[in-house]
Amino acid sequence: MKGDMMKQTFDQDNSGEPRFVCDDHMGKLARYLRVAGYDAVFDSAMDNNRLIQISLDEKRYILTRDRRLVERRLVRYCLLLKSDRWQDQIKTVAEHFGLVFSKSRMFTRCLEDNTPTVRVAKEDVRGRLWPYTYVHHDEFRMCPACHRIYWAGSHVAAMYTRFEEAGIPVVD
Ligand SMILES: [Zn+2]
Repeated sequence: MKGDMMKQTFDQDNSGEPRFVCDDHMGKLARYLRVAGYDAVFDSAMDNNRLIQISLDEKRYILTRDRRLVERRLVRYCLLLKSDRWQDQIKTVAEHFGLVFSKSRMFTRCLEDNTPTVRVAKEDVRGRLWPYTYVHHDEFRMCPACHRIYWAGSHVAAMYTRFEEAGIPVVD
């Protein structure tokens, strides 16, 4: 059997962009998918039964390297990954699902809890930022769940570089 194997292609009624649930070894992959604005559930405490249940209930593709998990009868939406490097994993996921990595999508999702972030006015976050950050940036996003603030600082440019090093072009 070949390495990267997809158990099922898109469902007819799953018309939006693909959503994912990552197994308990895929924390890094989940995080980088979130960076790029993709919906990736991950909880290191989640067991495989719960993982499968979420996949079925929410039509999420399980991302895993566990062949035995993929072969379980109940599993319907799944991509089996071969590599243990997040760079290879995300490239495979991007190719299979036609994901686009664009600057406008970056940080539209909270890295910690996967909640979509919302734009917030600069004045509203003033007291929560270092003065340097406040002076040099005008656009901020906030996670409504955990209230983390995101902005396009140097860490974001570093993220683009990491994607490009992984072989994934970041478009405007
Ligand atoms: Zn959050």
